[in-house]
Amino acid sequence: MSDGTTTPGRKRIFSGMQPSGEAHLGNYLGALKRWVDMQDEYDCIWCIVDDHAITSGLAPKELPGNVFDLAVSFLAVGLDPERAIIFVQSDVHEHTELAWLLNAVTPKGDLERMTQYKEKAQRFESVPAGILNYPILQAADILIYKADAVPVGEDQRQHLELTRDIARKFNAAYGDTFPEPEALIGDAGKILGLDGDAKMSKSVGNTVRLLAEPDEIWERVRTAVTDPQRVRRTDPGRPEVCNVYSLHKFFADEATVADVAAQCRAATRGCVDCKKILADNIATTFAPFRERAAHFRAHPDEVRRTLDEGARKARAIAAETMAEVRRKMGLRWRDGLG
Ligand code: SF4
Repeated sequence: MSDGTTTPGRKRIFSGMQPSGEAHLGNYLGALKRWVDMQDEYDCIWCIVDDHAITSGLAPKELPGNVFDLAVSFLAVGLDPERAIIFVQSDVHEHTELAWLLNAVTPKGDLERMTQYKEKAQRFESVPAGILNYPILQAADILIYKADAVPVGEDQRQHLELTRDIARKFNAAYGDTFPEPEALIGDAGKILGLDGDAKMSKSVGNTVRLLAEPDEIWERVRTAVTDPQRVRRTDPGRPEVCNVYSLHKFFADEATVADVAAQCRAATRGCVDCKKILADNIATTFAPFRERAAHFRAHPDEVRRTLDEGARKARAIAAETMAEVRRKMGLRWRDGLG
């Protein structure tokens, strides 16, 4: 980013992650790994979305530590403040201001149709409005930077479609302002939990901490579910239905992956040995992350400075967009009196 925010000819992308503390294997495979690579191709804005996290009922005393731990994970995997803007959402108040203004062009029915809203709403007797309005804040996060594209998983595609609709409706009502961001869907596919659950998450305990030591990685991977038909060591397996095999593809070269599949089918390698190879490869990949995280934990001021600088750069772009939005919506009343 030549002037600290934009590089001529490069697309700008935005993405955020909720601060549930240190990142885990699912965050890494589903987002962070890809974000690191994208920094070579795009002007990237990476956000820790703590304003979103308040809708998940997290205790206030836990939130600051979670934000810091996720920031350490971001920096440890290689999100680079020299090449991207890295910041915390609540440091840039323009996000919530724009979200409020976008309420004006967002039909309630569109929010009620969101699949994630329907799923989350079932958990409440009285659904907080924040659960319904969550996608408007997501839209504001993206539109405030006039992002050209957003790296998302398949599960977020519907929310991005809503963002595009909101941009279209705003532009129609108040004049051309926001680009309609494209979805950059990754090829990681769905990352299942180690227990075979549809989602890998820390709260369920079916994942591996990004900064786990090799012993802990092995303890977790050892419990992973495999092909249910492979009951005995001598039973031929079906790698295509085994989650361990899917994970091998992220951490091993093609020859190793082919060998895992062949030995599984021929029952020449047991599942424990197969998992050991996976655990070792994960530990090797994560080793430099642990090393860098130790540095940042020992130097918390470096992390704070990075987030402060990121917020300063983000605020500069957000303030410009908000000045335009307020003017177009007639919210600069002194100027309008003539
Ligand atoms: Fe899965 Fe490996 Fe066991 Fe085959 S040998 S079922 S790929 S863990």
